[in-house]
Amino acid sequence: MATYVFRCPACSVFEVVVPMSSVRPTHPCPTCAGESSRVWTAPALATTPAALHRAVAAADASTEAPQVVRSIPAGRPRPRGRRWNPVTGAAPVDAAHRPAGPHPSLPRW
Ligand SMILES: [Zn+2]
Repeated sequence: MATYVFRCPACSVFEVVVPMSSVRPTHPCPTCAGESSRVWTAPALATTPAALHRAVAAADASTEAPQVVRSIPAGRPRPRGRRWNPVTGAAPVDAAHRPAGPHPSLPRW
């Protein structure tokens, strides 16, 4: 989608957001429905922040060839607590003492 500017001879300038493949040299005015001609403007090019550019590039690279992680990345250790065992998949110890049934936050039908 791209934004195009049109000028109605009776009203004023307005913008239309349409796919680039379907833009036409004229567009009906949203106010008076009169035929409006396209106004050529400079493309809205902006400098992408470096951090955003790196994030987008990393996301694109991950889409095509995801990085395989075989160990937990180094850094701050994860907090210990009532978590599932990541190796065995075992439930937390006190899970056996929970009442049977759906999660308390789920609606009971
Ligand atoms: Zn108009």
